[in-house]
Amino acid sequence: MTLCMAPFVHMVQNPDGQYRTCCMFEKPLEGKYNDIKEAFDSEENQKIRQRMLSGEHLPECEKCDIDESHGGKHYKSYREFFNILFDSQYIKNPIFKTLEISLSNKCNFKCIDCGPRFSDQFGPTIKNNLPKFDNFNNLVHLKLLGGEPFLEKRNFDLLKNIPRKNMTLMLVTNNSIFPNDEILNLLVEFNQLDINISIDGIGEVAEFVRYGTKWSRFEKNWNKWFDWYSSSVDSLGNPVKKRPHVHIIPHFVMHTFTAPFYQETKDWSNIEVNSWSWDFLHNPDWLNLSFLPDHIKTFILKENQEFDEVLKGSLSKFLSSNSYSENTFNKIKNYILKHDVPKKMEEYIDLFF
Ligand code: SF4
Repeated sequence: MTLCMAPFVHMVQNPDGQYRTCCMFEKPLEGKYNDIKEAFDSEENQKIRQRMLSGEHLPECEKCDIDESHGGKHYKSYREFFNILFDSQYIKNPIFKTLEISLSNKCNFKCIDCGPRFSDQFGPTIKNNLPKFDNFNNLVHLKLLGGEPFLEKRNFDLLKNIPRKNMTLMLVTNNSIFPNDEILNLLVEFNQLDINISIDGIGEVAEFVRYGTKWSRFEKNWNKWFDWYSSSVDSLGNPVKKRPHVHIIPHFVMHTFTAPFYQETKDWSNIEVNSWSWDFLHNPDWLNLSFLPDHIKTFILKENQEFDEVLKGSLSKFLSSNSYSENTFNKIKNYILKHDVPKKMEEYIDLFF
């Protein structure tokens, strides 16, 4: 299946002002647009739709192809997500229904897998325009990212001014900031609220891979989210929700430094496995698990024996999607030599030398 509904209903606005068909699409739009709706209706976006409708297999969609080949997430690919949510009525009449937006790269973290585009800890602060609010009239799904979205004040203007009642909001946070009551009162008015908390390890692993993390603060804020959305726990220890339309979704990115620690991260949380979301990192190549030598891939699989079957199968397929690359392996070894790795990683890191 190469047809995807994303170009007919969705648009991404990045901190640097680039517009994209979706976050997985390799190439940003090339034109200069004053507003996101202008980009959505642009000739070049229309061409992408036409190429899909003519049955062309778009090389820009390769990440979805790869995700579909290893499968195993809630949705096999982002393409599947759009195709399940939006039917073919939008082919004839494209309508801007979903938006992913980062108004700036303001961030207090310097994560190992990030860069200047999404964190100003790597370089200058970059910002783009707040879209016109009348663009949001047909919107049913909004994904808010940063940087760290709670550091960008204009996000509060956005939350205040958009129609919240019929909309799902997914907010992606590094969990270093717990919002004040004024913001919480806005958040709770969305039809559905998904708080997507980035967590790629616990304790010293978190502080290493997501540099800027203070683990004690992370734990404190984690508990605040649970106190806010649940009032008690049942006999099995599961939260009983007082806000059933709110979901806390931990998101784990599997890469060379994190993959052996997924199991312990999941065990630390009080969240059942099917509420987790995860991704395999494709870029940069030196953090991509599939280029590691076989003995390290075997170790990673062994460490995650207790994974549910779906994720285990998916990890195994991802690991075998490429073979060992000496070039990328040397890049990671150079990184290790220049940094102090946490004690807990030492046994694993010994496998690299
Ligand atoms: S197939 Fe994937 S990459 Fe291509 S537009 Fe759809 S969601 Fe985006």
